[in-house]
Amino acid sequence: MARVAIVTGGTRGIGEAISLALKAQGRTVVASYAGNEEKARRFSEAHGIPAYKWDVGDHEACLDGCRRVEAEVGEIDIVVNNAGITRDGTLHKMTFDDWNEVMRINLGGCFNMAKACFPGMRERGWGRIVNIGSINGQAGQYGQVNYAAAKSGIHGFTKALAQEGARFGVTVNAIAPGYVDTDMVAAVPAPVLEKIVAKIPVGRLGQAEEIARGVAFLTSDEGGFVTGSTMSINGGQHM
Ligand code: NAD
Repeated sequence: MARVAIVTGGTRGIGEAISLALKAQGRTVVASYAGNEEKARRFSEAHGIPAYKWDVGDHEACLDGCRRVEAEVGEIDIVVNNAGITRDGTLHKMTFDDWNEVMRINLGGCFNMAKACFPGMRERGWGRIVNIGSINGQAGQYGQVNYAAAKSGIHGFTKALAQEGARFGVTVNAIAPGYVDTDMVAAVPAPVLEKIVAKIPVGRLGQAEEIARGVAFLTSDEGGFVTGSTMSINGGQHM
C-alpha cells in the first residue's frame, strides 16, 4: 500500500509543489492548510489531494487533525513541516505578538506534528520527517529576528529528533531554501527583492519545484542513510 504523506501548508506555494512531487512519486498525499477554504477546495479537486484545515501552531488541533487523517486516509509515514509565516519588522517595531506567532506556527508547528506522528512511525519502524527551514535561519536577516530564530530552531530541532529516530528507521532532515518565487517573496518590496536577487550566484529566484525535488529524495527509501542534515537549496548563496 502507498505510504501516506502529509504536507503542512500543502495547498499553495512551495507546499503545493511538494504535495504534487510526492504524489508523482506514488505517495498517498494529504495537505493541511490554514486560510482560504475555497482555494483549498479548488486545489483538492484539481489534484485529487484531500485538504484538511487546522492551525499547526495549535497543539490539540494538530493532534486531532492527524488522528482524523489516520482514520480517514491511513497511518502517516511521511511528514513535511512546510507551513510558515512571516511577521517582519525591526526589533524596535516588532511586538511580542509578532514574535510569539512566528515561533508558535513556524517552530511550534514542527513540534506539534512530530508529537502527533513520530510515535507511530517509530512503532512501525519507518518514517520520514522533513522540516522546511530557511537560509535566513542560517544567516539571519535584517528585520526578521522572529523568523530567523524560528528557522534556526527548526535546524536544531531536526538534528536532535534525528538522533531519537535513527535506530527506529525514522529519518529527520531539514531543507533550507534560499529565495523562492512564491506569495511569501512577492510580498517583499521590489527594490529590496532586486538587491536580494543580485546576491544569488545563479542570478535568479528558486522555483518551488526545485525545493520539492529535495523533499522527494529525503522522503524516499533511497534517502534512508541521510538523517539530521540540512540540505541547502539556494542557488549557491552559501553563508
Ligand atoms: P506561502 O505563504 O505561499 O505558504 C505558506 C503556507 O503555510 C500556506 O499554505 C498556509 O496555508 C500555511 N500556513 C500558514 N500558517 C499556517 C498555520 N497556522 N497552520 C497551518 N498552515 C499554515 O509560503 P511559501 O513561500 O510557499 O513558504 C513555504 C515554507 O517555505 C515556509 O515555511 C517558509 O518559511 C519557507 N521558506 C520560503 C522561502 C521563500 O523564498 N518563499 C524561503 C525559505 C523558506
